Amino acid sequence: MSARTSHVFHRNARLQPPIAVKGDGCYIVDADGKRYLDGSGGAAVSCLGHSHPKVIEAIKRQLDAIPYGHTGAFSNEPMEKLATHLAQAAPGGLDKVYFVSGGSEAVEAALKMARQFYIEIGQPSRHKIIARRQSYHGNTLGALAVGGNAARRAQFQPMLMEATHIAPCFSYREKRVDETEEEYGRRAADELETAIQQAGPETVAAFICEPVVGATAGAVPPAPGYLKRIREICDRHGVLLIFDEVMCGMGRTGHMFACDEDGVAPDLMTVAKGLGAGYQPIGAVLVDTRIFEAIRDGSGFFQHGHTYMGHPAACAAGLAVQEVIRDDNLLENVNRQGAALRRALEARFGNNANVGDIRGRGLFMAIELVADRSTKETFDPARQLHAVIKREAMERGLIVYPMGGTIDGRHGDHVLVAPPFIVDQSHITELVEKLGDAVDAAL
Ligand code: PLP
Repeated sequence: MSARTSHVFHRNARLQPPIAVKGDGCYIVDADGKRYLDGSGGAAVSCLGHSHPKVIEAIKRQLDAIPYGHTGAFSNEPMEKLATHLAQAAPGGLDKVYFVSGGSEAVEAALKMARQFYIEIGQPSRHKIIARRQSYHGNTLGALAVGGNAARRAQFQPMLMEATHIAPCFSYREKRVDETEEEYGRRAADELETAIQQAGPETVAAFICEPVVGATAGAVPPAPGYLKRIREICDRHGVLLIFDEVMCGMGRTGHMFACDEDGVAPDLMTVAKGLGAGYQPIGAVLVDTRIFEAIRDGSGFFQHGHTYMGHPAACAAGLAVQEVIRDDNLLENVNRQGAALRRALEARFGNNANVGDIRGRGLFMAIELVADRSTKETFDPARQLHAVIKREAMERGLIVYPMGGTIDGRHGDHVLVAPPFIVDQSHITELVEKLGDAVDAAL
């Protein structure tokens, strides 16, 4: 089938992608029988690979029992159980779970919840959101407004609410040589203090960031102490802290939540992607008790909602994913194979003059490509290096997640790798070999 004969409006309107017909563990098979190693879980989604029998069985069982009941009238068993599981695993006081159908919806709900919270507690002047330039929070209008991906925002700018964007925490490019990592982390966090003061603390509702940055910059972890200081600044000014863990959460970094490693708990946390592992569309907002209680004891109703929130089949999938991760000890495998992946990337790209940085946590890693390693100069965006790498990788039967370097003008093309949690050493070897060949061919 060509792009001309298909009636599907694909996101790339000029291309007809191959048709995926079968999942086989870490592999996707297309209609021509070609096998692709899924080295990025799509976009860090398919954490259990593509054919896990326990998840598929759980969805079928739920469909046999009851496929749908509107949450305005009913709760359902998998939703109740999944909420309990997430609340028990979550850090701090994140004790309530609001289910939605994906990452952007989770971000929209979190932003509106922050706003409503302040109305409920009698501080209606708080409505502003502060975010970071290096971030992606989704494609719906609210999530797009707070996101830092200027290219995605550009043409919709007149339709977007205002949001303030501060600098990211990005040691590779922003740390000065006379600073330690910790000193840099403090400096980067202090931008938030300045932004809150400039906006007027009594007008700021929330600060949102990805603890480990995903799509826009490629697996960028925070400097040590950065998130702790962000937490302190938010507390000092009564600003809610939202962690967007849609990409980095749900075990991807080797901890259940990425922020666990930094010992910091937010007031609201968004999760999606790995929550349903691609078996069903599902996302959630994990909510601090104090926010829930303010709404329960105030107006009693969160002014938001979607038709498919808490969908039984999606929650059954999410619950089964969590059970498999627990029963098969998969976080341990993420840490073991994550270390193997880092070693393999360092061995393959460590001496490559065009690879400036190799970074990440767990099975959430990236390489950043530069024209000049000593100056960190980026490649000319017109070259579309990331798109060429994607094509070269697919030709070799490998899926990775490359992105361009023009998002905030301050980082290069990068390739994100985020394979399923079930990978073994042979998958890591195949992934890095094929990626190495694809990068060589693209350069
Ligand atoms: N937040 C982050 C950190 C993401 O990486 C993404 C998607 O890549 C989203 C939100 C949006 O999620 P979705 O595409 O499920 O709407």
